[in-house]
Amino acid sequence: MGIFTKKSFIFIYGPPGSGKSTIGKQLANSLGLPFCDLDDEIELVTGKEIIEIFQIQGEAKFRDIETKVLKNLLLGSPKVIALGGGSLCDPQNRSLVENYGQVVCLYANHDILCARLKTSKKQRPLLGSTNEINSRLSALLERRQDHYSSFTHILDNSNLSIEETTWQIQIILGLFVIRGLTEDCHINIKYNGLSSLGEQLRSHGWTDRIIVVSDSNVAPIYSAEISSILEKSGFHIAQETFPAGEKSKTPQNCSEMWNRWLGLGIDRSSGVIALGGGVVCDQVGFAASTYMRGIHWAAIPTSLLAIVDASIGGKTGINLSQVKNLIGSFHPPAVVIADPSVLGSLPVDELRNGMAEIVKSAIIADPYLFNLCDSRISGLQFQNFDSNLWMEVIKRAIAVKVHFVQIDPLDKDQREVLNLGHTLGHALEKASDFRLRHGEAIAIGLVCEACLSVKKKIADEDLPNKIRTILDQLGLPSTIPDFIDRDYLVDSIRYDKKAKNGKIIFSLPIRIGEVKIGVVIDHDDLKFLEEV
Ligand code: NAD
Ligand code: ZN
Repeated sequence: MGIFTKKSFIFIYGPPGSGKSTIGKQLANSLGLPFCDLDDEIELVTGKEIIEIFQIQGEAKFRDIETKVLKNLLLGSPKVIALGGGSLCDPQNRSLVENYGQVVCLYANHDILCARLKTSKKQRPLLGSTNEINSRLSALLERRQDHYSSFTHILDNSNLSIEETTWQIQIILGLFVIRGLTEDCHINIKYNGLSSLGEQLRSHGWTDRIIVVSDSNVAPIYSAEISSILEKSGFHIAQETFPAGEKSKTPQNCSEMWNRWLGLGIDRSSGVIALGGGVVCDQVGFAASTYMRGIHWAAIPTSLLAIVDASIGGKTGINLSQVKNLIGSFHPPAVVIADPSVLGSLPVDELRNGMAEIVKSAIIADPYLFNLCDSRISGLQFQNFDSNLWMEVIKRAIAVKVHFVQIDPLDKDQREVLNLGHTLGHALEKASDFRLRHGEAIAIGLVCEACLSVKKKIADEDLPNKIRTILDQLGLPSTIPDFIDRDYLVDSIRYDKKAKNGKIIFSLPIRIGEVKIGVVIDHDDLKFLEEV
């Protein structure tokens, strides 16, 4: 059950016709949780239909029964519960469920609710017969308007399909499960979520020994705290640290790690935690994927880039003879705990690196996220950290990656969109002899690839400028620096590992929120880079 602890019930609430049962079922399925409909449970327990209880015993008695059945359900394991449309009008019920988890209140406009209710077979005592629905629903909505709008998580699904509504709820809650790789990967994005790390791992079946692996920058800040949280939950903890930086992603480091794990008696019943940025996630993930043919690992990503990118998707890798990520595997962490509070200690340059990947995700599939990356987030001042804004930005960026990983877990075709900005970006990193940081190179790559889209007539002329404006606000570069040798740059792209017979395959933006994969580019198309 992964990231779900006693307090992680999910309650789907809202007026009649808002889709609580259908959506609740779908959400439970996506998250691998049991599902329960409170009204169905009441009918099961009492042996009577809801309408019968209302008619014979009255609403007050019904509410009593509802509370009792609800309390009983909360004694069991976490699940998704579709509540009755008026069940939380009672403040005691409301505080009860809010203590046990999160409530999402669905909403839709009157006409849509009405249309849905008229085609539904379910009888609703407060709405009367089909020809009374319209007026009775209006009165009910008016009565409960303040009540429904008082919830923290409200989702208007008037124009959303069942799948879209479910996905939006997952983004709101910051909960995702990726399937289709060596094991399911449960992702939990929660501010201060690390405080319940022990419970979360226990609920995932982790039992005894855990080794926490980190790098020399992150370990002094977080290792002791993480170990103490885990020890309080009864785990036996060992800690391991290696020097920070890309240079540590080596077979030698891997072999040292395996030997230490062997010495500590780490086996398939133990767990390994990668606590750090993308380097730690890649290195530990790869070591875990091969040790004893694969042991469980969990990721606690601490850099923005690792939170939105490196910890998600199951790819692990190390470098060989300077070739990046040449040796690797698909072995996702069983659990990713993304707690943005750790970003408080991350240097601003590293935040910028991560922001470049977030802008990339926004261009790929989320125009709303693109707008969020505007001036409100620029400056990247964590002293003025608006945690709600950051949470939303991070959840939406992760959602983009999860979506494409889920439809193409083994990176065969569609996941290629995630490469946006990277074909040019990698060539820029190389041509700058790595003076450009990864995020800077990707930022320039995003603008140049948008220019290429314009040249290929698949995007409007203003697209590069739209992207450039956001990058400028974030303090990221958007033009190729003078010190880059243009000929060398073009050659690097031509000899990219994905080039075939002199043709290079790009993922190119069409507009903000849409990318075309598999665009064939030949040498002449790249000539414009000589003048940028
Ligand atoms: P990194 O791990 O080197 O972290 C950047 C720097 O920030 C390091 O010095 C690190 O010690 C420090 N740091 C991290 N978290 C901190 C914190 N909370 N407080 C203070 N300092 C902190 O690099 P990165 O940018 O996180 O990741 C880049 C790596 O990720 C590359 O090796 C890249 O290949 C890999 N990557 C992998 C994937 C994947 O799918 N597997 C995807 C993208 C990138
Ligand atoms: Zn990248």
